[in-house]
Amino acid sequence: MPILVAGSLAIDSISTPSGSREETLGGAASYFSVAASLYDQVRLVGVIGRDFRDDDLVHFRTRRIDLGGLERKEEGLTFRWSGSYEGRMDAAKTLETRLNVLAEFRPTLPQHFRDTPLVFLANTDPVTQAHVCSQMTRPRFMLLDTMNFWIDGRREDLYKAMQAAGNVILNDDEARALGASSNLNVAVERIAAIGVDTIVVKRGEHGALLYKEGRTFGLTALPLASVVDPTGAGDTFAGGFMGALAAGNDLSFAGMRRALLHATVMASFTVEGFGLERLLKVTRRDVEERLEELLHHTTP
Ligand code: AMP
Repeated sequence: MPILVAGSLAIDSISTPSGSREETLGGAASYFSVAASLYDQVRLVGVIGRDFRDDDLVHFRTRRIDLGGLERKEEGLTFRWSGSYEGRMDAAKTLETRLNVLAEFRPTLPQHFRDTPLVFLANTDPVTQAHVCSQMTRPRFMLLDTMNFWIDGRREDLYKAMQAAGNVILNDDEARALGASSNLNVAVERIAAIGVDTIVVKRGEHGALLYKEGRTFGLTALPLASVVDPTGAGDTFAGGFMGALAAGNDLSFAGMRRALLHATVMASFTVEGFGLERLLKVTRRDVEERLEELLHHTTP
C-alpha cells in the first residue's frame, strides 16, 4: 500500500555531546520517507527553496519515494532549524527556526496522490494538516503528529485537524499537555474523547504505548549503548510504523502492535548517527536482525 507524507524538508544544524553538524539534511518528511520507503512506496508532499542541494534530493530519488508533490520555490529559502541536546538528551533545545518557504505552504496534492490509503501528517500548522486531509479521496488510516507549540497556542485548529485525521502520534510530554493531566492514562482517555481512534505515545528510551478504542499495548525501547543524536527519532519511528502497516496490509490492533516493533527498531538506528547519516545506510537485513534482538529483549 502506498503511503503519503506531508511535512518539512529542512536544512538543520545540530549540536550534541558527541559533536555537531552544520547545514545538514533534515526535516520530518525526510526522516519519515527514508524510513517508510524501506517497506513500501512513499509519496512525498513538501516544499524546498533554491538553496536545497541536489545531492540531498538524490537520497529520495534513489529510493521508492515519489517526488511528485515536492515544490521547489526558486524565490525562497528552505526551512531551517537548529537545535542542541544536553544531559539525558530527551528533548532538543531549539536555538533557531526559520520557516522560510514553509511559512506559506498550503499544498495542492497531485491527482495521483489523492487516493493514497495511508497518510502521515508530520508536525506542522494544523490548518495545513487539515487541508491535506480534505484532499484525500480514499484514506484508510491517517496519522497526525504535532508539538507543544500548536497544543499551547492553536488548540481549536489542532482539534479540527485531529478529528479530520482520526489518529495521533505524540511524545509523552505532548500527550500530558494535550490531555491536561500528569497521569498519562487519564490524558490518553481525554485525547480519545476529542475524537480520535488510535493514539501512539512515544516515550524515548522508555519505549512506546499504543491505544486503540479502549485497548492498550506497551513496548520497551532497545537498550542502546550509544545515542549520538536524537534528531528525527520521532519521524523515523512514524516511518517504521506506517511502513510496517503498509507492508503488512493489516490495520487491526494486532497489525498495529507489530508495526510498533518496526517503529522502535527504525528509531533505534536514527539516534546512532547525526541527522540522517545512520538511517541512510540501513538495509532490510539490518531491520530483521534488530527485530530479533528486540523480540529477545521483550519476550519472557
Ligand atoms: P523530531 O526530532 O522527530 O522531532 O524532528 C526533527 C526534525 O523536525 C528536524 O529535522 C527539523 O528540521 C524538523 N522541525 C523542527 N521544528 C519544526 C517545525 N516547527 N515545523 C516543521 N518541522 C520542524
